[in-house]
Amino acid sequence: MNIHEYQAKRLLKEYGAPVSDGRVVLNAADAKTAAGELDGPLWVVKAQIHAGGRGKGTFKEAGAGEKGGVRLAKSVEEAAKEANAMLGHTLVTHQTGPAGKQVNRIYIEDGSDIARELYLALLVDRQSSRVSIVCSTEGGMDIEEVAENTPDKILSFSVDPATGLQGFHGRRVAFALGLEGKQIKQCSQLIQNLYRLFVEKDMEMLEINPLIVTPAGDIKCLDCKAGFDGNALYRHPDIVGLRDETEEDPKELAASQHDLNYIALDGEIGCMVNGAGLAMATMDIIKLYGAEPANFLDVGGGATKEKVTEAFKIITSDPNVKGILVNIFGGIMRCDVIAEGVIAAVKDVGLTVPLVVRLEGTNVELGKEIIKNSGLNVIAADNLKDGAQKIVKAVKG
Ligand code: GDP
Ligand code: MG
Repeated sequence: MNIHEYQAKRLLKEYGAPVSDGRVVLNAADAKTAAGELDGPLWVVKAQIHAGGRGKGTFKEAGAGEKGGVRLAKSVEEAAKEANAMLGHTLVTHQTGPAGKQVNRIYIEDGSDIARELYLALLVDRQSSRVSIVCSTEGGMDIEEVAENTPDKILSFSVDPATGLQGFHGRRVAFALGLEGKQIKQCSQLIQNLYRLFVEKDMEMLEINPLIVTPAGDIKCLDCKAGFDGNALYRHPDIVGLRDETEEDPKELAASQHDLNYIALDGEIGCMVNGAGLAMATMDIIKLYGAEPANFLDVGGGATKEKVTEAFKIITSDPNVKGILVNIFGGIMRCDVIAEGVIAAVKDVGLTVPLVVRLEGTNVELGKEIIKNSGLNVIAADNLKDGAQKIVKAVKG
């Protein structure tokens, strides 16, 4: 789960990390008051969406002006004007996809002068199964290009979970970032605070880009992206409270409300599968036969008819879906339950695209019988390969 920059900065502040003073505004009328509460003489007006690259982004609507989603202002009036221009408009960045995201919240911050822009992040490194501290002297808006063209300028230090964060981690990062004098101590302190935040809140990712050095020689977190492990949210009600459902894919949101493991993808073939491994194999085989999956979906082992119905509705609500493949290996899950769920869903929402069903395992004969007697236009498949070939053929001809 991701949160907004202004929420992440509140957490940073709580954990003793240096951030600028700022105010969040939800409507245009409050922008001037909010800006007036900050010192100036520079204000930064920042669109709050769950996507990076805002500075280099563009708005879809002409009314929002030519500038991106991070704007500098020299007066309270100008700050309010920029906030008004962005609110309600759609910002497109390299992370939002072409549809962009509507800006419903603006963060107005006391502007900083910048001497250097650095990059600092904490993340869970799957390869080493450890928390890694990633840093670069080349922070700022071009970090993706740095990673692409000069990856040696990005350094990574992993933390052994048995010993935890040690003093040398902070010093190594400070050295790698070319910091000097009092900045070394500030950096060590910052790394300690960020690590504590990361571990205590079960985070997946904590990215400070840019981490700046001010002309006075102090370091400060100017931007923050924060992501949390969804499986640990049950023990962090404070973090769940920061959830902004308008930022989430409505299909994924509906899936999480019904306890379904669903991830929206870009392809044309909707998949309903039981078991994460089988779901991944199903996606692979769809690709093997020349099409793309529209989603990952694991309905789980003990799914009820209602859950299957909801899953089917979520799949069909995706306008990109041109065909559906149901692939069930009934172990704990019974094939007749799946069959009844699919039929109930089709009766409820209709079926406008080809549907291939492959059932195997517990109560398979009963399941096939139910589908056959339903009178629905379902293409039966005998095995995974057969099912994948049939749905790709039905969609692509
Ligand atoms: P992102 O584009 O979504 O990553 O948004 P950031 O918050 O990182 O802002 C983009 C860029 O705007 C930064 O890399 C800075 O160069 C600039 N910026 C952000 N805040 C300030 C500020 O307080 N002062 C100045 N001078 N520039 C800023
Ligand atoms: Mg940034």
